[in-house]
Amino acid sequence: MFDYLIVGAGFAGSVLAERLANQLNKKVLIVDRRNHIGGNAYDHYNNDGILVHKYGPHIFHTNSRDVFEYLSLFTEWRYYEHRVLTSVDGQLVPIPINLDTINKLYGLNLTAFQLEEFFASVAEARDKILTSEDVVVSKVGRELYEKFFRNYTCKQWGIDPSELDRSVTARVPTRTNRDNRYFTDTYQEMPQYGFTRMFENMLNHPHIKVMLNTDYREIQTVIPYKEMIYSGPVDEFFDYRFGKLPYRSLDFKHQTHDRQVFQSAPVVNYPNEHLYTRSTEFKYLTGQEHTKTSIVYEFPKAEGDPYYPIPRPENTELYKKYKSLADATPEVHFVGRLATYKYYNMDQVVAQALMVFKQISAKESLEMAIIR
Ligand code: FAD
Ligand code: UDP
Repeated sequence: MFDYLIVGAGFAGSVLAERLANQLNKKVLIVDRRNHIGGNAYDHYNNDGILVHKYGPHIFHTNSRDVFEYLSLFTEWRYYEHRVLTSVDGQLVPIPINLDTINKLYGLNLTAFQLEEFFASVAEARDKILTSEDVVVSKVGRELYEKFFRNYTCKQWGIDPSELDRSVTARVPTRTNRDNRYFTDTYQEMPQYGFTRMFENMLNHPHIKVMLNTDYREIQTVIPYKEMIYSGPVDEFFDYRFGKLPYRSLDFKHQTHDRQVFQSAPVVNYPNEHLYTRSTEFKYLTGQEHTKTSIVYEFPKAEGDPYYPIPRPENTELYKKYKSLADATPEVHFVGRLATYKYYNMDQVVAQALMVFKQISAKESLEMAIIR
């Protein structure tokens, strides 16, 4: 008899498997319908021996010391500050928009103070910042919004930024200094030997059994367990009772080139050209040295594996209905990006899983106290 059946071997499922086995001595079966652990953060060496991320670029960054210290139990790190260029008006300029972006784009030599004045002169006043359009036009005005954000967002999400929650474009700040890092988090590190190795270390415990190529529904009724942790799509769990929750999917086009370097930055964004949103060159992220180089293009689409919950009011309303079903199913814990329909980064999923673990252990301590 297993104490826990865990559905999904991504961050949500693996963190909980590890904590439950290591800290509470629980017997855990973790299943994934894919043929590998790691969920969307899975990386592997391709046919040319280059470490690539199967499901697009994954860059670890967090402000949470707890999350960083927790993951440090399973990996060493390689310091890595992420930088992105974006192709606008025939030039490659830094994004987030900063002093260098504007000076290069318009051939100017503004100071930070002058740039603040410039932004103030072009910004559109908004009473309320509700949408992803509001966020950008209220800071940098319409022209820069059109050049950098509008088309990228339409391509990525299949809808106009004016229909998307403000939290989406708010992920990308605007700066008046020359800081061209994509993230400013306290901890910006990549797992030294890759994400998959880190997951292997997390799941390497005599009380954890891993079963791949298996949908939990195939084994749910034949393998006994007490409670479930579920990290798949929440609407699927409830057989789409209230209709499908919309997700965005992606096609990944991986390529290897017979040269050392392919592009001038780890990621290049293409807001206004091509069907793909961005290209990523993995060696920048991993620090690997190799005579060849591997890249990936991301082509957004509506159907396919669910990768991104779509943050907008009507979807949040639909999710609330599923959330109330989930709340009424106490023997199943819903954790992770798909099970809680949140556009979470890896560190946020780890934090959420650690929180669920705390709740489970608090409940268990209480039950033990009552028994005694
Ligand atoms: P997942 O990783 O999706 O794991 C869920 C697992 O459950 C999957 O492996 C799935 O196969 C399995 N599953 C589902 N249903 C079933 C079933 N019925 N039976 C068995 N198994 C099932 N985050 C960052 O912090 N930095 C980044 O740079 C970053 N880049 C990203 C780029 C892309 C293109 C994408 C899509 C995401 C990115 N993320 C990034 C987000 C990151 O991938 C997620 O936060 C994290 O992987 C979510 O972990 P999870 O465990 O919730 O879900
Ligand atoms: N975005 C944009 N132009 C860019 C970069 C980002 O319009 O050059 C918008 C777009 O809507 C994107 C969102 O900001 O989906 C968040 O960007 P991020 O790089 O965080 O996306 P992710 O890595 O999660 O795909």
